[in-house]
Amino acid sequence: MVRYVYDFTDGGRELAGLLGGKGANLAEMTRLGLPVPPGFTLTTEACRAYLETGAEPAGLAREVSAHMTGLEEGAGRRLGQRDDPLLVSVRSGARFSMPGMMETILDVGLNDDSVAGLANASGSARFAWDSYRRLVQMFGSTVMGVDAALFEGALERLKELRGVPDDVHLDAADLSGLVEAYKELIRREAGEDFPQSPAHQLRRAVLAVFDSWNSERARLYRHREHIPDDLGTAVNIQRMVFGNLGADSGSGVAFTRDPATGRRGLYGDYLPDAQGEDVVAGIRNTVPLAELEHLDPHSYGQLREHMRTLEQHYRDLCDIEFTIERGKLWMLQTRVGKRTAEAAFTIAAALVDEGLISTEDALARVSGVGLARLMFPRFDASATGEPLTRGLPASPGAAVGSAVFDSDEAVRRHAAGEPVVLVRQETNPDDLPGMVAARAVLTSRGGKTSHAAVVARGMGKVCVCGADDLVVDTEGRRLTTGNGTVVEEGTVLSVDGSAGAVYAGAVPLVDSAVMRRLENGTADGADEAPDAVVGAVTRALENADAVRRLEVRANADTPEDAARARRFGAQGIGLCRTEHMFLGERRRLVERMILAVTDADRDRALDALLPLQRGDFTGILTAMDGLPVTIRLLDPPLHEFLPDRLALATRLAAAEARGEVVDTHDAELLAAVNRMHEENPMLGLRGVRLGLVVPGLVAMQVRAIAEAVVERARAGGKPRAEIMVPLVGDVAEFRLVREEVDRVLAEVSTASGIPLACPVGTMIELPRAALTAGPIAEVAEFFSFGTNDLTQTTWGFSRDDVEAAFFSAYLDKGVFSASPFETIDREGVGRLVETAVTEGRAARPTLETGVCGEHGGDPESVHFFHRAGLDYVSCSPFRVPVARLEAGRAAL
Ligand code: ADP
Ligand code: MG
Ligand code: MG
Repeated sequence: MVRYVYDFTDGGRELAGLLGGKGANLAEMTRLGLPVPPGFTLTTEACRAYLETGAEPAGLAREVSAHMTGLEEGAGRRLGQRDDPLLVSVRSGARFSMPGMMETILDVGLNDDSVAGLANASGSARFAWDSYRRLVQMFGSTVMGVDAALFEGALERLKELRGVPDDVHLDAADLSGLVEAYKELIRREAGEDFPQSPAHQLRRAVLAVFDSWNSERARLYRHREHIPDDLGTAVNIQRMVFGNLGADSGSGVAFTRDPATGRRGLYGDYLPDAQGEDVVAGIRNTVPLAELEHLDPHSYGQLREHMRTLEQHYRDLCDIEFTIERGKLWMLQTRVGKRTAEAAFTIAAALVDEGLISTEDALARVSGVGLARLMFPRFDASATGEPLTRGLPASPGAAVGSAVFDSDEAVRRHAAGEPVVLVRQETNPDDLPGMVAARAVLTSRGGKTSHAAVVARGMGKVCVCGADDLVVDTEGRRLTTGNGTVVEEGTVLSVDGSAGAVYAGAVPLVDSAVMRRLENGTADGADEAPDAVVGAVTRALENADAVRRLEVRANADTPEDAARARRFGAQGIGLCRTEHMFLGERRRLVERMILAVTDADRDRALDALLPLQRGDFTGILTAMDGLPVTIRLLDPPLHEFLPDRLALATRLAAAEARGEVVDTHDAELLAAVNRMHEENPMLGLRGVRLGLVVPGLVAMQVRAIAEAVVERARAGGKPRAEIMVPLVGDVAEFRLVREEVDRVLAEVSTASGIPLACPVGTMIELPRAALTAGPIAEVAEFFSFGTNDLTQTTWGFSRDDVEAAFFSAYLDKGVFSASPFETIDREGVGRLVETAVTEGRAARPTLETGVCGEHGGDPESVHFFHRAGLDYVSCSPFRVPVARLEAGRAAL
């Protein structure tokens, strides 16, 4: 026999799945001996059975009536009894809190007869009629489906007629007239009368609460919050207590700590002479909870005590609902309260200090997502208006600056001390100087892994991308928004990269003390609140470092980035890209290398590049002294270093048309560009393939690394360079490159007399590499999973195209719930990682494994890499603290 009903005295917190959060916690408070009005809970199972079949499950009615009888006996009166009615509330309450999404009906049991009885028994006719009008109003709208606005309208008109500001000023006669008007409204709108039978009211209220599980807004909310649709809601039937009995009564909500900052002390709102829903409905002005100390010191003292009891018991921030009926305090709800990221860190640390939770518990209660939020400056939430446009929240934080429409202008204004926001349709590597100069980047095209997004995240720069209602007119130096607003160059914009919103004008910023501490090791002592959170974050990171098994390295290409990463706690560099070292001034040399016809020409170009590269590596090895630096040999297709094919051809054609002599260098360049043109460059001549095809390239890079190591060693440093080969698909490719690497290392070692023990390994970023990891590991000393390319090649998704093209449709249709470029796809890409780790380690037990894709800084992915047994994750310097924290949480 299934049991569908639990008395509050039978349940408990552990039954939240069955009783819903509200019911389970009401039972828990009852168990703790707190003053909870008696009641019972219809289980979520009863709801599920009802929703599946459309009928109440057999036995439910009998159980409910048995419990109702118990409630009546305890109260000494019957539901809706004429001379002294027992009234109940019928309250929804699912497993996961869905605030305001479902229905609750108060004062069930009143009718035309018992309202007089209630007036007599309570000695207040006004109170009785106020309760009755509430019931008719709530029942009429939620159970009988009459538009709630019609009731509101009738109430408004009555208040106007009487010339009173709010409902407390309406007297018994007013309210009784209102009830008549409401009943008439129901008759007209619903085509039936408001039911007078208390039992009938109760049953219909219960079914309405069940039904509210499937209301439009409840479904929508669940979708957004990833709550399953098939859980159902419980229903709590509870004896009413009355906050609307005059000045010595009232209702309130409270938190055991400040849910915004985590500070200790009671926080909340109180409303005298009101029923519960009035407090949150905002119909009258509430008073701060502290005021209750003066209004009703006895109840206030009790409330404090109960809240202490709850916090000790739940060992966490609790929020509660309470009601005072003629000086007697009743507890109506509690739950572990929602809080901001700042409060989460602060409270976790405080609870450890208070001896309530362990450091592990504390770590479990904070998150990398929250930490990331705390690291960026924020807009003052009270000061933002309607956004100018919305896009994807590509790189979090908040920034204010003048709109500029190209990289040069950004650089120019930045140099003059003006903060700028770079606005582009989309960005490309040529925009880099402008991105560096800008406070924020805004694009009208591209997804969260578009160039703008990836680069901005890497630099810790605010970015909103794909704001597709914007028309960006680069030539005209202006943009037009969806509603036709024109923004000219120089107009001040505020960009919220955490929310994906852009505002006109300068929204005030709140700086991040957490960031200052993480970046500089010093906190700003001026403000008390940030101090608490700074300390709490520092402690959480220390605790994470103490338990985590995954190491955290950073992706960094410059000594500055390397130094910053180190301050953030990076334990090395997991990915040092070398392509950035081929840009700018050095492009000429790269061009010469590419265009070289003879070996001698090429060697000269390479010789010129060698000292420059050596200098780069020396700088980075210095910044990371004593820690590993994994240097990737050149990866991108060479034409990326050459001018744009179309632009070049157009320029030459134009010169020709004007009858000018064509520059031979340009002509040669165009021929080379044409020769090297590829339809799918990302699947073309790049990575290890370059090393095998362009003579001398690998040797030059390895020599630069080796000589930098020698230089550092001679200077007394502890250089730890590791050499990494990209895009390997077969062991033969790796072996060929490795032979050359070893040859150069040996040469430099012999020449310098300094032993060079640089580990040589490969990226695993092609499915074939993962599937043949065993043989590759026999030759490679480490694997570094390039999960960006691995995701791209496993799914067959072009990273640069698919996000804009169809990812939003895929997300809508549920093909995936997060972009696989953001969160690792466990079943597919993840399995390749697991396979490669297992087979690689079988072939070489000392194989070192890590990940250097964007996923290295994604909380969910970090947990996966921990379980997959990797040795480290590597991510952009700004994500290092997030990765440390999540690596710690993964180890709990
Ligand atoms: P929600 O989940 O939307 O908060 P609740 O079931 O908590 O809905 O109820 C709405 C309001 O009615 C709350 O303020 C609650 O405190 C109040 N309330 C519920 N049951 C009772 C009761 N038995 N006596 C007095 N007030 C009640
Ligand atoms: Mg509530
Ligand atoms: Mg790659």
